[in-house]
Amino acid sequence: MRLRHKPYAKEKLEAYPHFVVPSPEEWKGRWAERFGNDKPIHIEIGCGKGQFIINMAKQFPAINFIGIELQTSVIVSALEKQIEEELPNVQFMQVDAKDLTNYFAPGEVDRIHLTFSDPWPKNRHEKRRLTYKSFLSVYKAILHDKGELHFKTDNQGLFEYSLTSFSHYPASLTHVYLDLHNSDVEDNVMTEYEEKFSQKGNRIYKAVIQFKA
Ligand code: SAM
Repeated sequence: MRLRHKPYAKEKLEAYPHFVVPSPEEWKGRWAERFGNDKPIHIEIGCGKGQFIINMAKQFPAINFIGIELQTSVIVSALEKQIEEELPNVQFMQVDAKDLTNYFAPGEVDRIHLTFSDPWPKNRHEKRRLTYKSFLSVYKAILHDKGELHFKTDNQGLFEYSLTSFSHYPASLTHVYLDLHNSDVEDNVMTEYEEKFSQKGNRIYKAVIQFKA
C-alpha cells in the first residue's frame, strides 16, 4: 500500500474513541460487552481503507466486525467511511497483527479475513508475511474451535507460500479457489485491492482454513 503521510490522522483517530478502540487490551475477553451484544466476531487483518469491512458490515448486520490496520494514515480512511455510515457492528483497532493475543481471549474470534496481504517477496522478509508461522499461531490462539481463516490474494507466490505454511499446522483446508471470480461463489465482497487488481486482469485466489486442536 502506497502511504501518503496524513499529519491529522492520529488526532482524528483519537477523536472517535467509539469507532477506533483506544485501549483494545481492556476489551480482551469482553468484546461482546463493547458491542452490546454477543453476535459472532469477524476480524479483518490489514483492513486498509476499510471498503471490505464496511460493505461486509452492511451486508451482514448479525455479525460484529473489527478492522485491524497497522498504518495510521491508512486506517483514517476506514474511519472516515464509518463516520459517514455509523454502522453499529463495526469497530477499528490501529495495532500490529502480531500482538492480537493481547486483545482477544482464546477462541473469542469466529472468523479472520486476511485480505490482499503485502506479499513481501524477498526471502529475508519472510517473517513479515501475514501467513508466516508466527502469525498463524496467533490466529489459531484467538480463533474459536470452529472458527475459520479466510485468505484472499491476487499474488500467486504468496498464495503458494501460504498453502505450504498452512500445511505445517494440523488444519483442514475446507475451500480452495484458484479463480474466485470465475467460481460458483456468489456472495463475494470485494476489497479495494481486489477491485483494482481484478480490473487489471489478475486472478484472485482464496483459501479457507480451519485449525484443529
Ligand atoms: N485489505 C485491503 C485491501 O484488500 O484492499 C488492504 C490491502 S494492503 C496491500 C495490506 C494492508 O495490511 C496494509 O494497509 C498494511 O498496512 C496492513 N498490514 C501489514 N502488516 C500488518 C500487520 N502486521 N498488522 C496490521 N496490518 C498490517
